[in-house]
Amino acid sequence: MDTGVWEGARWGGAGLPARRTGYRRGVCRHYNEAGGCQRGDHCLYHHVPEQVAQAQYMGVDDEQSDIHVDIDGASALTIRRDGTVQFSHSIPRVWEHFRALNIVLRAVDLRVRYKQGVQGDWTVERNSAGRGAMKTLIALESCTSVLAFESTDFGAVRERVRALPTRIQVTRVPNAPGKGA
Ligand SMILES: [Zn+2]
Repeated sequence: MDTGVWEGARWGGAGLPARRTGYRRGVCRHYNEAGGCQRGDHCLYHHVPEQVAQAQYMGVDDEQSDIHVDIDGASALTIRRDGTVQFSHSIPRVWEHFRALNIVLRAVDLRVRYKQGVQGDWTVERNSAGRGAMKTLIALESCTSVLAFESTDFGAVRERVRALPTRIQVTRVPNAPGKGA
């Protein structure tokens, strides 16, 4: 058996992986480490500087408390014991907050989207509802509340929030989909 031929076929016949055509999702870990990435142009992950947002979950350790979530020091949302999630009207309309918010919202099966660019309107919908989910506009003038879970599930929600990262990777990769990705 000619292993050389096999290797050639695996790598597209050229002996090397395709050059930056089939990006995988995500940021190259090695690129952001000392020493950098040895694959250079042949790496299939994105070579962009890593960006991180800090999340705080206040009240998550107190069974009697609602959970207040800050992202990079700005009030983002409150997860209430009654099953509602209240979005702050002052969430900065920038990519880092959008991305971090969506990580946090996994705990309550919600997601935010935007239509006309990240600085435009944001809507919230049930993540698991898929296409045709009912969308609620997140207002800029006042806080927006949506019913997200049964109040009896608050304990389980609190456990999911407790498992969320405080350091959230929000790096935007160059060819991320533009529509509320
Ligand atoms: Zn790389």
